[in-house]
Amino acid sequence: MSVPARTTVAIIGAGPAGLLLARLLRRSGIDSVVLEHRDRAYVEQRQRAGILEQGTIDVLRECGAGERMDREGLPHNGVELRFDGRGHRIDFPSLTGGRAVMVYAQTEMVKDLVALQLAEGGPLLFEARAVAIEGLEAGQPSVRYVHEGREHTLACDFVVGCDGFHGIARAAVPSDVLRTFDREYPYSWLGIMADVPPSSDELIYAHSERGFALLSMRTPTVSRLYLQVPNGTDPADWPDERIWDELDLRFAVDGDWKLERGPITSKSVTPMRSFVTEPMRYGPLFLAGDAAHIVPPTGAKGLNLAAADVVVLARALARWHETGAADLLDAYSDTCLRRVWRAEHFSYFMTTTLHPDPAQSDFDTRLQLSQLHRVADSEAAAAELAQNYVGSPFE
Ligand SMILES: Cc1cc2nc3c(=O)[nH]c(=O)nc-3n(C[C@H](O)[C@H](O)[C@H](O)COP(=O)(O)OP(=O)(O)OC[C@H]3O[C@@H](n4cnc5c(N)ncnc54)[C@H](O)[C@@H]3O)c2cc1C
Repeated sequence: MSVPARTTVAIIGAGPAGLLLARLLRRSGIDSVVLEHRDRAYVEQRQRAGILEQGTIDVLRECGAGERMDREGLPHNGVELRFDGRGHRIDFPSLTGGRAVMVYAQTEMVKDLVALQLAEGGPLLFEARAVAIEGLEAGQPSVRYVHEGREHTLACDFVVGCDGFHGIARAAVPSDVLRTFDREYPYSWLGIMADVPPSSDELIYAHSERGFALLSMRTPTVSRLYLQVPNGTDPADWPDERIWDELDLRFAVDGDWKLERGPITSKSVTPMRSFVTEPMRYGPLFLAGDAAHIVPPTGAKGLNLAAADVVVLARALARWHETGAADLLDAYSDTCLRRVWRAEHFSYFMTTTLHPDPAQSDFDTRLQLSQLHRVADSEAAAAELAQNYVGSPFE
């Protein structure tokens, strides 16, 4: 693939943020180059998110990337909160004016966007590692990257760091400009994929004194399940039978519900973290997605925040491209951070309400249960949860 030495927007990272941004820019007639450190197979198989908010669903459809999602995705109209041996359903459409979510794995969304980019978009380079961002202060930005053993320079008008939490873009902003806010939680998630049809049509968020558990799914034949575990847990300490036995205990409910077991095909441990960088822009450098913020996965917001950021940025760049006006670019950071902090709060609320902290007292547990009963009994409290879960329309 021939790569120009200059482009309008240099995008670092081919995760959901970078790929969707490239797609949106293409549709506005703005050229870009996407540089991705990993190879295509790695990017397409990395197991991560699975819940698309209404706004993400809408933007994928609008940009022509929603066809397979609409065919194979599983629309979900609610979730179950399970605690004290009982299940309580939260119905999204009736509490949110008709909004809902879709179960469609991040891997599939990434495959769709990669295929479209390679067929119709600008250059997308795999195994191209950005090593430096230069010329930001001089207003002449460029990205140095290594591809096939050689170093190259890509000059551009804008650099967008879509390179995730461990990327280089955030570090290119001087430390006296950036402010970071973060919280680490005293527990992690042990996540498994299992070749067994999901035991529920909808997600189940279970609070138990033994720890939190989540039943989710990827397809009608593949289940995704999570267990709260101590930080530093080695998945090797959790043989399959131990995982299923523990899930059985945490999902225990009055009545005849049964958790179906099947072959476990993957196991991984994810720490829980909240993190926000302010501002999300430094001159011609913009940060989007996990490069700028992280949420614990309990609220299913990370992928959706990444999509919301690049929708705001693509509109701002389109306006600049059409009219020369930079007002939306100037507003980018503030516009995104309003949504980011709402999602941070919701993810924190879901996490701290559903996970027993190892150090918590019986009093704290009673408060968690009181909050869960409130959501189950009060339409106003249920609506607050539902509206946050499905997300507000993208600005
Ligand atoms: C186990 C797990 C479960 C999750 N579950 C959910 C969920 O249910 N719902 C949800 O909304 N979110 C969830 N998330 C979060 C979600 O996956 C992320 O928020 C999302 O991937 C962010 O997309 P992104 O494009 O910003 O970053 P990433 O997906 O991290 O993509 C960044 C890309 O940049 C590339 N890169 C990094 N450095 C460089 C460099 N120097 N040069 C070139 N390329 C580089 C990386 O290889 C990567 O491909 C989960 C995350 C994990 C880990």
